[in-house]
Amino acid sequence: TTQESPLHVVIVPTPGMGHLIPLIEFAKRLVDLHKFAVTFIVPNDGSPMKLQRQLLLTQPEPISSIFLPPVSFDDLPEDAKIETRIILSLTRSLHLLKDSFKVLAQSARVVAFVVDVFGIDAFDVAKEFGLEPYIFVTTSVMLLSLIFELPKLDQMFSCDYRDLPEPIKLPGCVPFHGSDIPDPLQHRTNFAYQETLQQCKRYPLAAGIIINSFLDLEKGTLDALMEGGRRLPAVYPVGPLIRTSSTNEVEGSNNCLRWLDEQPSGSVLYVCFGSGGTLSHEQLNELALGLEMSGQRFLWVVREPDEIAANATYFGIENVKNPFAFLPDGFLERTKEVGLVVPSWAPQIQVLSHGSTGGFLTHCGWNSVLESIVHGVPLIAWPLYAEQKMNGVLLKDGLKVAFRVKVNEDGLVGREDIAKYVKELIEGDEGQLLRARMRKLKGAAKIDCTDMEKPLATLERGTTCSAWNYCGERLAAGS
Ligand code: UDP
Repeated sequence: TTQESPLHVVIVPTPGMGHLIPLIEFAKRLVDLHKFAVTFIVPNDGSPMKLQRQLLLTQPEPISSIFLPPVSFDDLPEDAKIETRIILSLTRSLHLLKDSFKVLAQSARVVAFVVDVFGIDAFDVAKEFGLEPYIFVTTSVMLLSLIFELPKLDQMFSCDYRDLPEPIKLPGCVPFHGSDIPDPLQHRTNFAYQETLQQCKRYPLAAGIIINSFLDLEKGTLDALMEGGRRLPAVYPVGPLIRTSSTNEVEGSNNCLRWLDEQPSGSVLYVCFGSGGTLSHEQLNELALGLEMSGQRFLWVVREPDEIAANATYFGIENVKNPFAFLPDGFLERTKEVGLVVPSWAPQIQVLSHGSTGGFLTHCGWNSVLESIVHGVPLIAWPLYAEQKMNGVLLKDGLKVAFRVKVNEDGLVGREDIAKYVKELIEGDEGQLLRARMRKLKGAAKIDCTDMEKPLATLERGTTCSAWNYCGERLAAGS
Protein backbone atom coordinates (compact mmCIF):
# COMPACT_ATOMS: atom_id res chain seq x y z
CA THR A 1 0.00 0.00 0.00
CA THR A 2 1.44 3.31 -1.03
CA GLN A 3 0.39 6.67 0.32
CA GLU A 4 -0.44 7.72 -3.26
CA SER A 5 -3.03 5.03 -3.89
CA PRO A 6 -6.57 6.39 -3.58
CA LEU A 7 -8.53 6.00 -0.36
CA HIS A 8 -10.78 3.01 -0.69
CA VAL A 9 -14.43 2.52 0.30
CA VAL A 10 -15.94 -0.95 0.59
CA ILE A 11 -19.67 -1.29 -0.10
CA VAL A 12 -21.64 -4.39 0.82
CA PRO A 13 -25.06 -4.51 -0.93
CA THR A 14 -27.81 -6.88 0.17
CA PRO A 15 -29.94 -8.55 -2.57
CA GLY A 16 -32.32 -6.49 -4.68
CA MET A 17 -31.98 -4.14 -7.63
CA GLY A 18 -33.56 -1.40 -5.53
CA HIS A 19 -30.51 -1.51 -3.24
CA LEU A 20 -27.86 -2.01 -5.87
CA ILE A 21 -28.89 0.73 -8.29
CA PRO A 22 -28.59 3.65 -5.83
CA LEU A 23 -25.45 2.15 -4.23
CA ILE A 24 -23.76 2.18 -7.62
CA GLU A 25 -24.78 5.78 -8.14
CA PHE A 26 -23.38 6.55 -4.70
CA ALA A 27 -20.11 4.83 -5.64
CA LYS A 28 -19.85 6.85 -8.84
CA ARG A 29 -20.20 10.11 -6.88
CA LEU A 30 -17.62 8.98 -4.34
CA VAL A 31 -15.24 8.51 -7.24
CA ASP A 32 -16.12 11.73 -9.10
CA LEU A 33 -16.53 14.12 -6.19
CA HIS A 34 -14.07 12.70 -3.68
CA LYS A 35 -11.58 10.64 -5.72
CA PHE A 36 -12.17 7.47 -3.72
CA ALA A 37 -11.79 3.98 -5.18
CA VAL A 38 -14.71 1.65 -4.44
CA THR A 39 -15.03 -2.12 -4.17
CA PHE A 40 -18.38 -3.86 -3.93
CA ILE A 41 -18.28 -7.13 -2.01
CA VAL A 42 -21.50 -8.84 -3.03
CA PRO A 43 -23.25 -11.55 -1.01
CA ASN A 44 -24.86 -14.14 -3.25
CA ASP A 45 -28.51 -15.04 -2.64
CA GLY A 46 -28.31 -18.15 -4.78
CA SER A 47 -30.24 -16.67 -7.75
CA PRO A 48 -28.39 -16.08 -11.07
CA MET A 49 -28.22 -12.31 -10.28
CA LYS A 50 -27.85 -11.63 -13.98
CA LEU A 51 -28.92 -7.98 -13.95
CA GLN A 52 -26.86 -7.28 -10.84
CA ARG A 53 -23.71 -8.77 -12.35
CA GLN A 54 -24.26 -6.96 -15.60
CA LEU A 55 -24.64 -3.63 -13.79
CA LEU A 56 -21.60 -4.10 -11.58
CA LEU A 57 -19.28 -5.53 -14.20
CA THR A 58 -19.88 -2.64 -16.58
CA GLN A 59 -18.72 -0.02 -14.07
CA PRO A 60 -15.44 1.62 -15.04
CA GLU A 61 -12.35 1.68 -12.82
CA PRO A 62 -11.86 2.48 -9.98
CA ILE A 63 -15.16 0.74 -9.16
CA SER A 64 -14.70 -3.01 -8.91
CA SER A 65 -16.64 -5.98 -7.57
CA ILE A 66 -16.01 -9.20 -5.73
CA PHE A 67 -18.84 -11.77 -5.90
CA LEU A 68 -19.05 -14.09 -2.91
CA PRO A 69 -20.02 -17.76 -3.38
CA PRO A 70 -23.75 -18.54 -2.96
CA VAL A 71 -25.25 -19.37 0.42
CA SER A 72 -27.93 -21.99 0.91
CA PHE A 73 -31.55 -21.38 1.94
CA ASP A 74 -32.52 -25.05 1.76
CA ASP A 75 -33.48 -25.06 5.44
CA LEU A 76 -35.94 -22.14 5.18
CA PRO A 77 -39.69 -22.72 5.15
CA GLU A 78 -41.37 -22.00 1.81
CA ASP A 79 -43.20 -19.01 3.22
CA ALA A 80 -40.07 -17.29 4.61
CA LYS A 81 -40.37 -13.54 4.04
CA ILE A 82 -38.08 -11.87 1.52
CA GLU A 83 -36.66 -9.76 4.34
CA THR A 84 -35.57 -12.97 6.07
CA ARG A 85 -33.82 -14.16 2.93
CA ILE A 86 -32.21 -10.76 2.40
CA ILE A 87 -30.87 -10.62 5.94
CA LEU A 88 -29.72 -14.25 5.89
CA SER A 89 -27.94 -13.90 2.58
CA LEU A 90 -25.72 -11.44 4.42
CA THR A 91 -25.36 -13.13 7.80
CA ARG A 92 -24.58 -16.46 6.13
CA SER A 93 -21.90 -14.74 4.05
CA LEU A 94 -20.13 -13.00 6.93
CA HIS A 95 -17.16 -15.40 7.08
CA LEU A 96 -16.73 -15.13 3.29
CA LEU A 97 -17.00 -11.38 3.55
CA LYS A 98 -14.31 -11.32 6.20
CA ASP A 99 -11.91 -13.42 4.14
CA SER A 100 -12.40 -11.36 1.08
CA PHE A 101 -12.04 -8.12 3.04
CA LYS A 102 -8.77 -9.33 4.52
CA VAL A 103 -7.31 -9.93 1.06
CA LEU A 104 -8.50 -6.56 -0.21
CA ALA A 105 -7.11 -4.69 2.79
CA GLN A 106 -3.64 -6.05 2.01
CA SER A 107 -3.45 -4.10 -1.22
CA ALA A 108 -5.87 -1.19 -0.74
CA ARG A 109 -6.10 1.69 1.75
CA VAL A 110 -9.62 0.90 2.95
CA VAL A 111 -10.95 3.78 5.05
CA ALA A 112 -14.69 3.21 5.14
CA PHE A 113 -17.19 0.41 5.17
CA VAL A 114 -20.71 1.00 3.92
CA VAL A 115 -23.70 -1.35 4.17
CA ASP A 116 -27.30 -0.84 3.11
CA VAL A 117 -30.53 -0.93 5.14
CA PHE A 118 -30.34 -4.68 5.77
CA GLY A 119 -26.57 -4.84 6.26
CA ILE A 120 -26.24 -4.10 9.97
CA ASP A 121 -24.93 -7.59 10.77
CA ALA A 122 -21.79 -6.75 8.80
CA PHE A 123 -20.91 -4.05 11.37
CA ASP A 124 -18.86 -6.64 13.24
CA VAL A 125 -16.63 -7.24 10.22
CA ALA A 126 -15.98 -3.50 9.94
CA LYS A 127 -15.14 -3.25 13.64
CA GLU A 128 -12.81 -6.22 13.43
CA PHE A 129 -10.74 -4.34 10.87
CA GLY A 130 -10.81 -1.14 12.91
CA LEU A 131 -13.23 0.65 10.61
CA GLU A 132 -16.33 2.62 11.47
CA PRO A 133 -19.45 1.33 9.72
CA TYR A 134 -21.75 3.58 7.70
CA ILE A 135 -25.25 2.80 6.52
CA PHE A 136 -26.52 3.90 3.14
CA VAL A 137 -30.30 4.10 3.40
CA THR A 138 -31.91 3.41 0.02
CA THR A 139 -35.27 4.80 1.05
CA SER A 140 -37.02 7.71 2.77
CA VAL A 141 -36.09 9.64 5.91
CA MET A 142 -39.59 8.74 7.07
CA LEU A 143 -38.59 5.09 7.08
CA LEU A 144 -35.35 5.92 8.86
CA SER A 145 -37.48 7.60 11.54
CA LEU A 146 -39.51 4.45 11.89
CA ILE A 147 -36.30 2.46 12.29
CA PHE A 148 -35.18 4.70 15.15
CA GLU A 149 -38.63 4.70 16.76
CA LEU A 150 -39.42 1.01 16.36
CA PRO A 151 -37.92 -0.13 19.67
CA LYS A 152 -40.14 2.46 21.39
CA LEU A 153 -43.26 1.41 19.44
CA ASP A 154 -42.47 -2.19 20.29
CA GLN A 155 -42.59 -1.30 23.98
CA MET A 156 -45.64 0.94 23.72
CA PHE A 157 -48.00 -1.47 21.96
CA SER A 158 -48.65 -5.15 22.32
CA CYS A 159 -51.06 -5.62 19.41
CA ASP A 160 -50.09 -5.87 15.77
CA TYR A 161 -49.64 -2.38 14.35
CA ARG A 162 -52.41 -2.78 11.78
CA ASP A 163 -54.91 -3.12 14.66
CA LEU A 164 -54.04 0.26 16.19
CA PRO A 165 -57.10 2.53 16.11
CA GLU A 166 -55.16 5.80 15.91
CA PRO A 167 -52.65 6.85 13.25
CA ILE A 168 -48.98 6.64 14.20
CA LYS A 169 -47.22 10.00 14.45
CA LEU A 170 -43.43 9.97 14.29
CA PRO A 171 -41.37 13.13 14.89
CA GLY A 172 -41.64 15.43 11.86
CA CYS A 173 -43.52 12.85 9.74
CA VAL A 174 -46.98 12.79 8.17
CA PRO A 175 -49.17 10.49 10.30
CA PHE A 176 -49.82 7.05 8.87
CA HIS A 177 -51.99 4.08 9.71
CA GLY A 178 -50.45 1.04 11.40
CA SER A 179 -51.35 -1.04 8.37
CA ASP A 180 -48.95 1.11 6.31
CA ILE A 181 -45.96 -0.15 8.33
CA PRO A 182 -43.78 -2.51 6.26
CA ASP A 183 -44.96 -6.06 5.93
CA PRO A 184 -42.38 -7.94 8.03
CA LEU A 185 -43.26 -5.70 10.97
CA GLN A 186 -46.95 -6.60 10.72
CA HIS A 187 -46.49 -10.00 12.33
CA ARG A 188 -44.85 -9.64 15.68
CA THR A 189 -44.29 -13.33 16.18
CA ASN A 190 -42.54 -13.74 12.82
CA PHE A 191 -38.76 -14.26 12.66
CA ALA A 192 -38.55 -11.28 10.30
CA TYR A 193 -40.08 -8.97 12.96
CA GLN A 194 -37.63 -9.93 15.68
CA GLU A 195 -34.73 -9.83 13.24
CA THR A 196 -35.71 -6.39 11.96
CA LEU A 197 -36.24 -5.09 15.50
CA GLN A 198 -32.74 -6.23 16.50
CA GLN A 199 -31.31 -4.48 13.43
CA CYS A 200 -33.18 -1.27 14.26
CA LYS A 201 -31.71 -1.29 17.77
CA ARG A 202 -28.22 -1.35 16.26
CA TYR A 203 -28.78 1.57 13.86
CA PRO A 204 -27.59 4.16 16.38
CA LEU A 205 -24.19 2.40 16.40
CA ALA A 206 -23.46 3.55 12.85
CA ALA A 207 -20.75 6.17 12.48
CA GLY A 208 -23.03 7.98 10.08
CA ILE A 209 -26.09 7.46 7.94
CA ILE A 210 -26.05 8.42 4.29
CA ILE A 211 -29.54 8.65 2.85
CA ASN A 212 -30.95 8.88 -0.65
CA SER A 213 -33.30 11.76 0.05
CA PHE A 214 -32.99 15.53 0.10
CA LEU A 215 -33.84 18.44 2.32
CA ASP A 216 -36.72 19.93 0.31
CA LEU A 217 -38.37 16.53 0.07
CA GLU A 218 -38.41 15.63 3.77
CA LYS A 219 -37.36 18.74 5.65
CA GLY A 220 -39.54 18.31 8.73
CA THR A 221 -38.46 14.73 9.23
CA LEU A 222 -34.78 15.50 8.68
CA ASP A 223 -34.93 18.45 11.09
CA ALA A 224 -36.52 16.22 13.72
CA LEU A 225 -33.80 13.58 13.28
CA MET A 226 -30.98 16.06 13.45
CA GLU A 227 -32.17 17.64 16.69
CA GLY A 228 -29.16 17.42 18.95
CA GLY A 229 -31.00 16.05 21.96
CA ARG A 230 -31.71 12.76 20.25
CA ARG A 231 -28.04 11.75 20.03
CA LEU A 232 -28.47 9.92 16.75
CA PRO A 233 -25.66 9.35 14.24
CA ALA A 234 -25.08 12.16 11.71
CA VAL A 235 -27.45 11.92 8.76
CA TYR A 236 -26.22 12.95 5.30
CA PRO A 237 -29.08 13.50 2.81
CA VAL A 238 -27.12 13.12 -0.45
CA GLY A 239 -30.03 12.41 -2.80
CA PRO A 240 -31.65 12.22 -5.15
CA LEU A 241 -29.25 9.65 -6.58
CA ILE A 242 -30.77 8.06 -9.64
CA ARG A 243 -29.32 6.52 -12.76
CA THR A 244 -28.65 8.99 -15.52
CA SER A 245 -28.93 6.52 -18.37
CA SER A 246 -29.79 2.91 -18.89
CA THR A 247 -29.24 2.55 -22.61
CA ASN A 248 -30.20 -0.76 -24.13
CA GLU A 249 -30.16 -2.56 -20.82
CA VAL A 250 -32.50 -5.23 -22.10
CA GLU A 251 -33.80 -6.41 -25.41
CA GLY A 252 -36.83 -4.49 -26.51
CA SER A 253 -35.86 -1.19 -24.82
CA ASN A 254 -35.71 0.61 -28.12
CA ASN A 255 -39.12 -0.67 -28.99
CA CYS A 256 -40.60 1.19 -25.98
CA LEU A 257 -38.87 4.41 -26.86
CA ARG A 258 -39.80 4.27 -30.53
CA TRP A 259 -43.43 3.70 -29.54
CA LEU A 260 -43.32 6.64 -27.11
CA ASP A 261 -41.90 8.85 -29.88
CA GLU A 262 -45.14 8.34 -31.79
CA GLN A 263 -47.47 9.35 -28.93
CA PRO A 264 -48.72 12.88 -28.16
CA SER A 265 -46.93 14.88 -25.47
CA GLY A 266 -47.86 14.02 -21.88
CA SER A 267 -50.47 11.47 -22.98
CA VAL A 268 -49.06 8.14 -21.78
CA LEU A 269 -49.47 6.47 -18.41
CA TYR A 270 -46.43 4.32 -17.57
CA VAL A 271 -47.35 1.29 -15.43
CA CYS A 272 -44.64 -0.64 -13.57
CA PHE A 273 -44.29 -2.33 -10.20
CA GLY A 274 -40.51 -2.15 -9.85
CA SER A 275 -38.15 -5.07 -10.04
CA GLY A 276 -39.99 -7.36 -7.63
CA GLY A 277 -43.69 -6.44 -7.79
CA THR A 278 -46.29 -8.95 -8.94
CA LEU A 279 -50.12 -9.05 -8.86
CA SER A 280 -52.56 -11.93 -8.55
CA HIS A 281 -54.18 -13.14 -11.76
CA GLU A 282 -57.50 -11.60 -10.79
CA GLN A 283 -55.85 -8.26 -10.00
CA LEU A 284 -53.91 -8.33 -13.25
CA ASN A 285 -57.23 -8.72 -15.04
CA GLU A 286 -58.79 -5.80 -13.18
CA LEU A 287 -55.82 -3.62 -14.04
CA ALA A 288 -55.97 -4.55 -17.72
CA LEU A 289 -59.69 -3.82 -17.90
CA GLY A 290 -59.27 -0.60 -15.92
CA LEU A 291 -56.60 0.66 -18.27
CA GLU A 292 -58.79 -0.21 -21.23
CA MET A 293 -61.80 1.51 -19.67
CA SER A 294 -59.86 4.70 -19.03
CA GLY A 295 -59.42 5.22 -22.75
CA GLN A 296 -55.95 6.61 -22.05
CA ARG A 297 -52.64 5.59 -23.62
CA PHE A 298 -50.45 3.31 -21.56
CA LEU A 299 -47.07 1.61 -21.51
CA TRP A 300 -47.32 -1.36 -19.18
CA VAL A 301 -44.57 -3.62 -17.88
CA VAL A 302 -46.43 -6.90 -17.35
CA ARG A 303 -45.25 -9.80 -15.21
CA GLU A 304 -46.62 -13.27 -14.82
CA PRO A 305 -49.14 -13.15 -11.94
CA ASP A 306 -48.40 -14.71 -8.58
CA GLU A 307 -51.17 -15.74 -6.19
CA ILE A 308 -49.11 -15.81 -3.02
CA ALA A 309 -46.56 -13.03 -2.92
CA ALA A 310 -46.61 -9.43 -4.10
CA ASN A 311 -42.86 -9.59 -4.61
CA ALA A 312 -42.45 -12.82 -6.54
CA THR A 313 -39.70 -11.55 -8.83
CA TYR A 314 -37.58 -9.94 -6.10
CA PHE A 315 -34.69 -12.36 -6.51
CA GLY A 316 -34.60 -12.11 -10.28
CA ILE A 317 -36.82 -11.68 -13.28
CA GLU A 318 -34.78 -14.15 -15.34
CA ASN A 319 -37.18 -17.05 -15.11
CA VAL A 320 -40.45 -15.37 -15.96
CA LYS A 321 -42.67 -17.04 -18.52
CA ASN A 322 -44.74 -15.29 -21.16
CA PRO A 323 -46.90 -12.95 -19.07
CA PHE A 324 -49.14 -11.98 -21.98
CA ALA A 325 -50.87 -15.35 -21.75
CA PHE A 326 -52.46 -14.14 -18.48
CA LEU A 327 -54.11 -11.01 -19.93
CA PRO A 328 -57.88 -10.94 -20.54
CA ASP A 329 -59.04 -12.43 -23.83
CA GLY A 330 -58.71 -10.02 -26.73
CA PHE A 331 -57.12 -7.30 -24.55
CA LEU A 332 -54.00 -6.86 -26.67
CA GLU A 333 -56.00 -6.67 -29.87
CA ARG A 334 -58.55 -4.19 -28.47
CA THR A 335 -55.93 -1.84 -27.03
CA LYS A 336 -53.29 -2.05 -29.73
CA GLU A 337 -53.90 1.53 -30.89
CA VAL A 338 -53.39 3.05 -27.46
CA GLY A 339 -51.29 0.63 -25.44
CA LEU A 340 -47.90 -1.01 -25.48
CA VAL A 341 -47.40 -3.98 -23.21
CA VAL A 342 -43.83 -5.12 -22.54
CA PRO A 343 -42.75 -8.22 -20.64
CA SER A 344 -40.79 -7.96 -17.37
CA TRP A 345 -38.60 -4.88 -17.76
CA ALA A 346 -38.63 -1.43 -19.39
CA PRO A 347 -35.91 1.23 -19.61
CA GLN A 348 -37.62 3.19 -16.84
CA ILE A 349 -35.35 6.22 -16.72
CA GLN A 350 -35.75 6.82 -20.42
CA VAL A 351 -39.49 6.25 -20.22
CA LEU A 352 -39.88 8.76 -17.38
CA SER A 353 -37.75 11.36 -19.12
CA HIS A 354 -39.71 11.00 -22.37
CA GLY A 355 -42.02 13.90 -23.24
CA SER A 356 -44.92 11.58 -24.09
CA THR A 357 -45.07 10.21 -20.55
CA GLY A 358 -47.72 12.07 -18.56
CA GLY A 359 -48.13 9.90 -15.46
CA PHE A 360 -46.81 6.85 -13.66
CA LEU A 361 -48.74 4.13 -11.89
CA THR A 362 -46.09 2.90 -9.47
CA HIS A 363 -45.61 0.45 -6.62
CA CYS A 364 -43.81 3.33 -4.81
CA GLY A 365 -40.38 1.72 -4.55
CA TRP A 366 -38.14 4.57 -3.39
CA ASN A 367 -36.04 4.59 -6.56
CA SER A 368 -39.14 4.85 -8.69
CA VAL A 369 -40.34 7.69 -6.44
CA LEU A 370 -37.09 9.65 -6.84
CA GLU A 371 -36.95 8.97 -10.57
CA SER A 372 -40.48 10.36 -10.97
CA ILE A 373 -39.59 13.44 -8.95
CA VAL A 374 -36.42 14.14 -10.93
CA HIS A 375 -38.45 13.89 -14.14
CA GLY A 376 -41.52 15.72 -12.81
CA VAL A 377 -44.00 12.89 -13.49
CA PRO A 378 -47.15 12.77 -11.25
CA LEU A 379 -48.20 9.46 -9.77
CA ILE A 380 -50.84 6.91 -8.99
CA ALA A 381 -49.53 5.16 -5.88
CA TRP A 382 -50.20 1.44 -5.74
CA PRO A 383 -47.92 0.22 -2.95
CA LEU A 384 -47.42 -3.53 -2.63
CA TYR A 385 -44.83 -4.56 -0.06
CA ALA A 386 -41.74 -3.49 1.95
CA GLU A 387 -41.93 0.20 2.95
CA GLN A 388 -43.96 1.11 -0.12
CA LYS A 389 -47.16 1.93 1.78
CA MET A 390 -45.32 4.50 3.88
CA ASN A 391 -43.90 5.98 0.69
CA GLY A 392 -47.47 6.10 -0.59
CA VAL A 393 -48.54 8.12 2.47
CA LEU A 394 -45.68 10.56 1.98
CA LEU A 395 -46.59 11.00 -1.72
CA LYS A 396 -50.32 11.40 -1.23
CA ASP A 397 -50.70 13.14 2.15
CA GLY A 398 -47.30 14.75 2.60
CA LEU A 399 -46.18 15.93 -0.80
CA LYS A 400 -49.60 15.73 -2.50
CA VAL A 401 -48.17 14.54 -5.81
CA ALA A 402 -50.09 11.26 -6.08
CA PHE A 403 -53.48 9.59 -5.99
CA ARG A 404 -53.45 6.41 -3.95
CA VAL A 405 -55.50 3.40 -5.02
CA LYS A 406 -57.99 1.84 -2.60
CA VAL A 407 -58.40 -1.86 -2.09
CA ASN A 408 -62.11 -2.89 -2.02
CA GLU A 409 -63.78 -5.47 0.22
CA ASP A 410 -62.75 -8.23 -2.19
CA GLY A 411 -59.12 -7.30 -1.61
CA LEU A 412 -58.81 -5.88 -5.11
CA VAL A 413 -58.34 -2.50 -6.71
CA GLY A 414 -61.37 -2.42 -8.99
CA ARG A 415 -61.34 -1.63 -12.69
CA GLU A 416 -63.71 1.37 -12.38
CA ASP A 417 -61.47 2.93 -9.76
CA ILE A 418 -58.39 2.32 -11.86
CA ALA A 419 -60.04 3.88 -14.89
CA LYS A 420 -61.07 6.92 -12.81
CA TYR A 421 -57.57 7.53 -11.40
CA VAL A 422 -55.92 7.11 -14.78
CA LYS A 423 -58.29 9.46 -16.57
CA GLU A 424 -58.03 12.06 -13.80
CA LEU A 425 -54.24 11.90 -13.71
CA ILE A 426 -53.73 12.29 -17.44
CA GLU A 427 -56.67 14.58 -18.33
CA GLY A 428 -58.27 15.93 -15.17
CA ASP A 429 -57.89 19.15 -13.18
CA GLU A 430 -56.67 17.39 -10.09
CA GLY A 431 -54.11 15.59 -12.23
CA GLN A 432 -52.90 19.03 -13.30
CA LEU A 433 -52.49 20.08 -9.68
CA LEU A 434 -50.43 16.98 -8.91
CA ARG A 435 -48.34 17.64 -12.00
CA ALA A 436 -47.69 21.25 -11.00
CA ARG A 437 -46.53 20.18 -7.52
CA MET A 438 -44.35 17.49 -9.01
CA ARG A 439 -42.68 20.04 -11.31
CA LYS A 440 -41.92 22.20 -8.30
CA LEU A 441 -40.29 19.26 -6.56
CA LYS A 442 -38.35 18.53 -9.72
CA GLY A 443 -36.82 22.00 -9.47
CA ALA A 444 -35.90 21.43 -5.83
CA ALA A 445 -34.33 18.06 -6.65
CA LYS A 446 -31.60 19.46 -8.86
CA ILE A 447 -28.29 18.74 -7.20
CA ASP A 448 -25.92 21.60 -7.72
CA CYS A 449 -22.50 20.56 -6.63
CA THR A 450 -20.62 23.31 -8.42
CA ASP A 451 -19.78 24.53 -4.93
CA MET A 452 -17.97 21.35 -4.05
CA GLU A 453 -14.57 23.05 -4.06
CA LYS A 454 -15.63 25.85 -1.71
CA PRO A 455 -14.66 25.54 1.94
CA LEU A 456 -17.28 23.84 4.04
CA ALA A 457 -17.83 26.83 6.24
CA THR A 458 -19.29 28.81 3.36
CA LEU A 459 -21.89 26.16 2.64
CA GLU A 460 -25.10 26.08 4.54
CA ARG A 461 -25.44 22.92 6.56
CA GLY A 462 -28.27 20.77 5.31
CA THR A 463 -28.02 21.37 1.57
CA THR A 464 -27.30 18.34 -0.55
CA CYS A 465 -23.99 19.79 -1.57
CA SER A 466 -22.85 20.25 2.02
CA ALA A 467 -24.16 16.82 2.87
CA TRP A 468 -21.85 15.43 0.21
CA ASN A 469 -18.94 17.43 1.49
CA TYR A 470 -19.40 16.47 5.12
CA CYS A 471 -20.00 12.86 4.20
CA GLY A 472 -16.88 12.70 2.00
CA GLU A 473 -14.73 14.34 4.67
CA ARG A 474 -16.01 11.99 7.31
CA LEU A 475 -15.43 8.86 5.22
CA ALA A 476 -11.91 9.96 4.34
CA ALA A 477 -11.11 10.64 7.98
CA GLY A 478 -11.45 6.93 8.67
CA SER A 479 -7.87 6.42 7.45
N1 UDP B 1 -36.64 -0.64 -13.15
C1 UDP B 1 -36.47 -0.52 -14.52
N2 UDP B 1 -37.34 -1.16 -15.35
C2 UDP B 1 -38.37 -1.93 -14.88
C3 UDP B 1 -38.53 -2.04 -13.49
C4 UDP B 1 -37.66 -1.38 -12.64
O1 UDP B 1 -35.56 0.15 -14.99
O2 UDP B 1 -39.12 -2.48 -15.69
C5 UDP B 1 -35.70 0.06 -12.26
C6 UDP B 1 -36.28 1.36 -11.78
O3 UDP B 1 -35.95 2.41 -12.67
C7 UDP B 1 -35.65 1.52 -10.42
C8 UDP B 1 -35.43 0.10 -9.95
O4 UDP B 1 -35.47 -0.71 -11.10
O5 UDP B 1 -34.39 2.16 -10.52
C9 UDP B 1 -36.50 -0.38 -8.99
O6 UDP B 1 -36.30 0.21 -7.75
P1 UDP B 1 -37.50 0.63 -6.82
O7 UDP B 1 -36.89 1.15 -5.57
O8 UDP B 1 -38.42 1.54 -7.53
O9 UDP B 1 -38.31 -0.69 -6.58
P2 UDP B 1 -37.89 -2.15 -6.10
O10 UDP B 1 -37.55 -2.88 -7.33
O11 UDP B 1 -36.75 -2.01 -5.14
O12 UDP B 1 -39.14 -2.64 -5.48
